[in-house]
Amino acid sequence: MKELISSDRIETRVAELAARISEDFAAKIETDGRPLVLLGVLKGSFMFLADLARRISVPVEIEFASMSSYGNRRESSGTVELRIAPSINLAGRRILVVEDIVDTGRSLSKLLEHLRSFEAEEIRLCAFLDKPAARVVAVHVDYTGFEVPLKFVVGYGLDAAQQYRALAGIYELEEPAGT
Ligand code: 5GP
Ligand code: MG
Repeated sequence: MKELISSDRIETRVAELAARISEDFAAKIETDGRPLVLLGVLKGSFMFLADLARRISVPVEIEFASMSSYGNRRESSGTVELRIAPSINLAGRRILVVEDIVDTGRSLSKLLEHLRSFEAEEIRLCAFLDKPAARVVAVHVDYTGFEVPLKFVVGYGLDAAQQYRALAGIYELEEPAGT
């Protein structure tokens, strides 16, 4: 495996993103005292969400949604399944969706479409990685950690058949996949 992004670079970048996010939401949150909802998309965003949440200086609440489009295959199937607990009340809230990577854009556009029915006050998007060359559906990402080339990457929450999520850096998986 080839390292693309070291854990040191990730740490620096996450701090930068957290500072920007905190700055962007500080005034609004101070006005009405309602925390920012960090809505992590499982499972890939768990590590990014944990690091980001610790660096953000405004009050946050943590919630999760789950989407699956890959299964154990390396290519997006195009069909996306979304699950979000019915107990989560997002009406009137400020939501920051936290994703691991935007690839074709299908999962995120589906998630955003679904989230709109909750009548949140504001929905913004934060993706740790962006693979712009793979985009099929346009999505506006407000905060991006790093852009990556058209390669399958793992680590820092991202898996290949549930492996490698715990790696502290981002790696390109070189050997052919068991698709
Ligand atoms: P999209 O719907 O944008 O095509 O796919 C998004 C999801 O596919 C991501 O949230 C992630 O779970 C998975 N994905 C896309 N590209 C990669 C990649 O390079 N590595 C890994 N591990 N997952 C990816
Ligand atoms: Mg994902």
